[in-house]
Amino acid sequence: MYAYFPEMYPDESLYSVLARLRTHLGGLSSVQFQRWLYAGLLHPADFELVGGINVIAYNAYGTSQRDLDALIDDHTGLNYYLRYQEASLAKSCRSMYASGEERGLLIWTGSATSNIGRVKALRYCSKCLEIMHASYGEFYWRRAHNLPGSLVCPDHGCPLCLSSVNLYRLGRFDFISADMAICRARDHLVCDMPPEVIPLAQQLAKISAGFLKASDCHQSRVDWAADYMAKIRTLGFMRGTTMVDDKKLAIMVSDVYSGIYPYLKDCFCERRDGFFPILSMLRHPKSGFHPLDHALMEVFLSRAGSTRTLPTSRIINLYEAEHHAIDAGYRRPCFGDVEDWDAIDRVLRDVVLLIADCIRSEQPPVRISRVEVERRLPVGGRIGKRLQHLPKTAEVLSRYVETAQDFQSRRVRWHISQFVRLGKPITAAAIMKVSGIRFTQRSRIEQLIVEFKDAGASEAGAD
Ligand SMILES: [Zn+2]
Repeated sequence: MYAYFPEMYPDESLYSVLARLRTHLGGLSSVQFQRWLYAGLLHPADFELVGGINVIAYNAYGTSQRDLDALIDDHTGLNYYLRYQEASLAKSCRSMYASGEERGLLIWTGSATSNIGRVKALRYCSKCLEIMHASYGEFYWRRAHNLPGSLVCPDHGCPLCLSSVNLYRLGRFDFISADMAICRARDHLVCDMPPEVIPLAQQLAKISAGFLKASDCHQSRVDWAADYMAKIRTLGFMRGTTMVDDKKLAIMVSDVYSGIYPYLKDCFCERRDGFFPILSMLRHPKSGFHPLDHALMEVFLSRAGSTRTLPTSRIINLYEAEHHAIDAGYRRPCFGDVEDWDAIDRVLRDVVLLIADCIRSEQPPVRISRVEVERRLPVGGRIGKRLQHLPKTAEVLSRYVETAQDFQSRRVRWHISQFVRLGKPITAAAIMKVSGIRFTQRSRIEQLIVEFKDAGASEAGAD
């Protein structure tokens, strides 16, 4: 049994309790402290799921199961990850964790394979710090401040601040306690969001924090999808009785989330299924979804009924544009309000770049024209009418779009390379025939053949 174990504060992470314990004991190195804590063993200092919890509970409280349960429910992030799991899986994960085994838990719950990252730098709320100091005379790290997607304090609605403790840069076994110097060292906000976005951020933070409480409404992913589908139906996002109205839903997702999206994007590392995979959650409940996806769904369902919908003629559907970019494996662009031309411009520029690259890589070659780019854009032909608002997109278009002559040259070069590949004799007449270029262009084709052969000869010479 430990000779001393500190009092634990409301919503304090067990990581924080152990970090304070280390500070209170004074002078122990990380490894010395770990050996003292775990009777000679070492466990990684994980913020959400501290390992060897059975050893800690036994040495702090004895063999009481109730104390062990309270320690898990009130001071770790286990419930957050088990919230949307089936009852049997949640039960086995819990007993696994309670027996001191934390490795593999995030894999079992599907969170390890999610593209939603865990918090790197620990966060705090300035108002909470004042309350902690007044009530307890010391500071601590709260679980609710350090969940993915939490940007503001769920209690005070204050934007969270970043401390200098970066969990990814610390030693694996380091527990670092909160103090004023650490909290104020960086002294900048997680993000500087406009006041009108804060209520949405607070709602999301509150719902996420609610997932930390123990829950007994576990059900299968298919049942969760059926529940969501029933609510979507009630909200009127259906075409007929069984088909979801994708377009209407996408517009509403843009409407609800476009304001907060730029501030949330750091949580998502190159998601292939896009920001908030609502359609996958409704249609493909087999794949695992992160608790943050469910929090986004809950917020969406609560807001979709009351949010003002912008007239469709005024918006470019950024949600679809973004999906297009993600589907093609491109880095996710960011966007702000749907009427924010600068944000729209950035998204479209990235999508246009992507499409232009796709067209350029196609074989046989296709001409990169503005019409062809627009045809492939999910926003249809509207872009052309709005180019005066979209300087970055216009610049990319002007750089990539080919003249007829540029394209002919590229096509001729491609045909020549095909002839080389197939070992056919290269003649101007044969190239003209396959590329469909008129006789008047013969001299240019001959010149391109000469250039191609020269380039080949110089390459061979260089080798
Ligand atoms: Zn607070």
